[in-house]
Amino acid sequence: MKVLIHPQVDNGIVASLEGFSGGTLACQCQHNPVEVSVTAQTAHNHVCGCSKCWKPDGALFAQIAVVSRDNVQVAKNADKLAIVDESAAIQRHACKECGTHMYGRIENTGHPFYGLDFVHTELSSQQGWSQPEFAAFVSSIIEAGAAPESMADVRQTLKDLGLEPYDCLSPVLMDAIAAHIATHSEKSA
Ligand SMILES: [Zn+2]
Ligand SMILES: [Zn+2]
Repeated sequence: MKVLIHPQVDNGIVASLEGFSGGTLACQCQHNPVEVSVTAQTAHNHVCGCSKCWKPDGALFAQIAVVSRDNVQVAKNADKLAIVDESAAIQRHACKECGTHMYGRIENTGHPFYGLDFVHTELSSQQGWSQPEFAAFVSSIIEAGAAPESMADVRQTLKDLGLEPYDCLSPVLMDAIAAHIATHSEKSA
């Protein structure tokens, strides 16, 4: 049985547009929305089942991509932003009024993903952002209330959409983290 995953993928994946170079993300406030300009194409877009990523109302998964932090700038209503959890590795800057996460930033220079910001490209009206490639932290949706017996349908739906389900990040990203840790520990040894 098909399961609804996220509005951006439920009707099929929209392919990335070659040469696409960014756009503007807006929060969900009707008045004075926070606007964030992203001046590059994103990468590693995926749906995520973890409990930290912001999800639109009713969605089982979040959709999230990365882009170099140099290409992310708050363009409007920065005063409405606050960090959700200062102690988290990824500091998620969210609109205080509507709760939408506008960008997640890593301030720890030793973190494997330092230099990359996490963004939800569905907040943009532009088309052509990098398409979702896989599903991360799939089993974690159970922590958010999904029924364990629904997981076979969830994983099958993800596979049918071409989003390989993983219970951590994708092998490419897990390898990148491990390589970073290996390099780091050699230096400190
Ligand atoms: Zn807002
Ligand atoms: Zn997540």
